[in-house]
Amino acid sequence: MKVGVLALQGDFREHLKAVADCGHTPFDVRRVSELHEIDALILPGGESTTIIHLAQNFGLFQPIRDAIAQGLPVYGSCAGMILLADRIVDGVKDQKTFGGLDITVRRNAFGRQVDSFESDLTFNGASLHAVFIRAPWVEQIGAGVEVLSTAADHAVAVRQGNLLATSFHPELTEDLAVHRYFFEEICKGR
Ligand code: GLN
Repeated sequence: MKVGVLALQGDFREHLKAVADCGHTPFDVRRVSELHEIDALILPGGESTTIIHLAQNFGLFQPIRDAIAQGLPVYGSCAGMILLADRIVDGVKDQKTFGGLDITVRRNAFGRQVDSFESDLTFNGASLHAVFIRAPWVEQIGAGVEVLSTAADHAVAVRQGNLLATSFHPELTEDLAVHRYFFEEICKGR
């Protein structure tokens, strides 16, 4: 598969490497035409307000929304989770998202106690070491959303149809379980 990573800001290089390590073809996405060449898209960690602002400037905002609606498989980590959420708590005024995932996320949710931390979670039935950096958590989920991991009594990995989101950053560890889940459980057959 040719897997695009939105390469406007944030840790897109780490996701590009994870894509290659999983045996797929990584592809930087910065233009609308590139969006039409890919089989799946990853929204990296970074700063959600900056990424959405740049997406608007690059003319990618509506095309990405359309691609999500048309069923393109999309995985978002951390800021990427915020970008996929239909609703945000503690966003900046009028903060926009691509949306598609029927969840409410709280930005910088863990940050009220601690900015960054690592934790061992269960993801898809296996243990996983997860890195959280000014991470959101999922405050509310819609009926079609499946919770794949929890931490501090909140969902931190969720899936709905063609969309996957994690509060944490698997791209910053060597563990490819989340990327593999995305490719094998969500992208396959689409
Ligand atoms: N707090 C950031 C935001 O709101 C997300 C942090 C991250 O991606 N590590 O976009």
